Amino acid sequence: MIFPVPLCVPITWSIDTTGLSHPGRTSVAVGRAFDEWSAATGLRFQWVSSGGRVSAVFHPVDPRWLAYALEDVIVVDPVVANAVSTYQREVVAHELGHVLGLPHGGPGLMGGNATHVMPIDGQAVSIQPCD
Ligand SMILES: [Zn+2]
Repeated sequence: MIFPVPLCVPITWSIDTTGLSHPGRTSVAVGRAFDEWSAATGLRFQWVSSGGRVSAVFHPVDPRWLAYALEDVIVVDPVVANAVSTYQREVVAHELGHVLGLPHGGPGLMGGNATHVMPIDGQAVSIQPCD
């Protein structure tokens, strides 16, 4: 979904960490994903405690995907929430790219296949100008 708002208007986001083992750590990682897109695009994202325009929720997801975006909802498997923060951020950043209207493609965060954001070596995948 592409948001029909001026860049100066913040897009609110919220996260539901119900049931997660480390909600604080996950919240920080998800926040970094929003911050990264903000830095890359100029869009302003603003956290709200609930009811954000974009929301991240944690529910079991098909293990082939681990996460998906459904319009403005980012659904992430709790398995991801137990992974390292870098991976959490990458997964959410990838799905946020879909929320912003981007398809898969290119060598960066939006490229590859369903497992492309797995940071096997612990290296972060950054948002590239072509993302
Ligand atoms: Zn994707």
